[in-house]
Amino acid sequence: MSNQVENHLKKLFGAFGRRPLRQQFDVYMEWADKYSAGVVEEVVVHSINNEEKLPTITKLRTLAKSLSPEINNFSMNGIDACWFCADTGFIPYLYEPNDTTSVWHIRMMGCSCSIGQQISGVTNYFDGHEKLQFEEETRQHPFMNHYQMVTYIMNQRNKEMKRDSNNGMKTKSAVKKEKI
Ligand SMILES: [Zn+2]
Repeated sequence: MSNQVENHLKKLFGAFGRRPLRQQFDVYMEWADKYSAGVVEEVVVHSINNEEKLPTITKLRTLAKSLSPEINNFSMNGIDACWFCADTGFIPYLYEPNDTTSVWHIRMMGCSCSIGQQISGVTNYFDGHEKLQFEEETRQHPFMNHYQMVTYIMNQRNKEMKRDSNNGMKTKSAVKKEKI
């Protein structure tokens, strides 16, 4: 194991004011072993800037995936979850309200990874879409996977739509309450 990686991890513990136990440090080293020093550094820097306390291994793993999707994409061994579908084989696509469905809704499509390819009868997501919908949003929120992000956006948009449709009434009652 390179000194570089060890130093990054020491920095991580240091930043959160922790002096790790040998065993604990070993566990983190084991995690870091799976990544290049560059990825470990990125994850450490991101954690220091964004986390309130020392991230767990699970969090670090999620972070590493979202920060370096190119090395995790289309994983062949099925051990590392596919960044696109989280090993479900399915990727959701969000559609706006139309004639048949009056709300924002999701249609599941197949992923291009080994798991997605085993699912028959589902249109491949990347046949019809050049890039992942809401990819940017998902990358900006490493603790939500793509499915969670799309579902979240769908719910938000439906909420907004509902709010807009009875906006007049709500605004009035809100004003009234404030006066009291
Ligand atoms: Zn996949």
